[in-house]
Amino acid sequence: MEFVLASNNQKKLREMDEILRREGCSVISMKEAGFHTDPEENGSTFEENALIKAKAAMEASGRACIADDSGLAVDGLGGAPGVLSARYCEGTDLDRVYFLLENMKGMEDRTARFVSCVACAFPDGTSIVVRGECPGVILEELKGEGGFGYDPVFYVPAEGYTFAEMPQERKNEISHRGAAMVKFCAELKKQGKI
Ligand code: IMP
Repeated sequence: MEFVLASNNQKKLREMDEILRREGCSVISMKEAGFHTDPEENGSTFEENALIKAKAAMEASGRACIADDSGLAVDGLGGAPGVLSARYCEGTDLDRVYFLLENMKGMEDRTARFVSCVACAFPDGTSIVVRGECPGVILEELKGEGGFGYDPVFYVPAEGYTFAEMPQERKNEISHRGAAMVKFCAELKKQGKI
C-alpha cells in the first residue's frame, strides 16, 4: 500500500518510509501526490492534531493519508510545551531551547518525554491513531551538534547521549516517531489493511 504523508518534511518522510518498507508499504509526499493542505492544528492533544492533518489530506486527495504530530512533554512543567512545542516562543529552535531551560531553572525533576502521534485516515472513513514515546531527561545545558529542535538538551540515560549527540540511525531506532510507526504497522496488520 502507498500512503501520502500530510507534510512536506523530507526528514520525517524518509524516517517513516524506511519503517513502512519493511512491511511492503511506502509513503510519498503531498507534493509528489500533487496536492497540498495546511489545516489549522487547533486540537488540544497530539492525537487530535495528527487526525486533523490526516483527515484534511485524505479529503483533499481521496487517498490513504498519514500525519504525525509530535513534541516534548516535560513532567515538571505539567506536560509543557506539549502540542505547542514548535510555537513555545517566537524565534528559532535554539531560542525555544533556551526558553525551556529558563523555565526549568532550579527544577529538580527534569524527566521528560518526546511524544509522536501518527494518524492515518482511509478513504472508507476509518482511521488509525497510535502514540509512541521516548523517555529522557532535560539537561541544564546543550550538548551535541546534530538533530533539530530540543535534541541538544534531551538526554537519554540508557544511551549516555543526548539526541543531538546520537547518530541519526540510532535516534530513529529509539525515537518516539520510530515507536509510533512500529505500532502503526502492527495496527495495519491487525486490521487486515495490509
Ligand atoms: P511537528 O510535529 O513537526 O509540528 O513538530 C513539533 C515540534 O516538536 C518540533 O518543532 C520540535 O520542536 C519538537 N520535536 C518533535 N520531534 C522532535 C525530535 O525528534 N527532536 C527534537 N524536537 C522535536
